[in-house]
Amino acid sequence: MEYGENKKEERMIPIIDSKRQYETIGKEAEEKVIEVMRSGQYILGTNNKMFEEEISKYIGVKYAVCLNSGTDALHLALRALRIGKGDEVITTAFTFVATTESIEIVGATPVFVDIDENTFNIDVNKIEEKITPKTKAILPVHLYGQPAQMDKIMEIAKKHNLYVIEDCCQAIGAQYKGQKVGTFGDIGCYSFYPTKNLGTMGDGGLAITNNEELKNRIIALRNHGGAIRYHHDEIGVNSRLDEIQAAILRVKLPYIDNWNKLRREHAAYYNELFKGQEGIETPKELIDTYCVYHQYTIKVKNRDTIHKMLQERGIGAMIYYPIPLHLQKVHRHLGLGEGTLLNTEKNTKLVLSLPMFAEITKQEQETVAKTVIECVKETMALA
Ligand SMILES: *Cc1c(COP(=O)(O)O)cnc(C)c1O
Repeated sequence: MEYGENKKEERMIPIIDSKRQYETIGKEAEEKVIEVMRSGQYILGTNNKMFEEEISKYIGVKYAVCLNSGTDALHLALRALRIGKGDEVITTAFTFVATTESIEIVGATPVFVDIDENTFNIDVNKIEEKITPKTKAILPVHLYGQPAQMDKIMEIAKKHNLYVIEDCCQAIGAQYKGQKVGTFGDIGCYSFYPTKNLGTMGDGGLAITNNEELKNRIIALRNHGGAIRYHHDEIGVNSRLDEIQAAILRVKLPYIDNWNKLRREHAAYYNELFKGQEGIETPKELIDTYCVYHQYTIKVKNRDTIHKMLQERGIGAMIYYPIPLHLQKVHRHLGLGEGTLLNTEKNTKLVLSLPMFAEITKQEQETVAKTVIECVKETMALA
């Protein structure tokens, strides 16, 4: 296969390159997709069932339910726990909008807790002060593939009798104290969007749980609110995973541990390349965690200038996410302005994610690092 058919692409080191992964799994995936097409069974078939079994074994959980997206997994997790109007859900504003959108979809209110600056995840020391009689759940996000501090979160949840829903959309395979994320709380939610560590070739998601009743509720909700066909007990949705997507995921799942391992090696190499460089803060890991580096995110001053310079010099750096959720128009009704979540707001202005995917080469990483260091130096000289 040829890469960089045009010059611009040739010079650009992208944040992620899905085409390269296709070289590993393409042939096998193509065979499996053709098998599905020939089978005539396109929805909720064998591949769904087998993938649910295979991924629950991989994660170490009793039940997995395939869904159409990570957003649906979050939404249906809340529905399954009967969280809705009048309820509050404690979460972070330093995440992708789907996290809080799902809370609003069910009519509940997101209550934001500031982040810990070192991990970008919810600051566990600030959760308890936000608990009210309306609080029903804590919804931590394992952002950039870094596990949130689950022992502390579970301790608070038990003490206050709260549910825990884990947003694992960026963190498949990540571990906290030797246990995979998603298995600590009541329900774990995953996304198979193409750019995630385990991505399919369309949309896909998953909810996992050890609770049989919750599993059955999610199964009913994903298929119009009924466990038996044409018997509808409540309002559900259509959130089934295509057989084609399930077949592709089954091909990819055996590779995920190696892909995550490679990401960790690339992160370590970036750390080495940036070592001792003034003005560049590299990511930190909590002790006892296995971070899967969905993103490799540094902190720099003059971030917007550096981001622009990098784009011009062929480095596909990205900002995840440029506006914290409490300042988004969609959540304005919560009445939170600037200055309410200080670490969230401060870090939103510093973070910069660099090219990171299993297949990135050492040479590309060296080019990325060299260019970042140049840009940082140039902006410091200007100041
Ligand atoms: C991707 C993502 C989602 C949503 O997943 P979709 O499959 O795109 O719906 C939710 N939360 C986080 C943190 C994500 O990164």
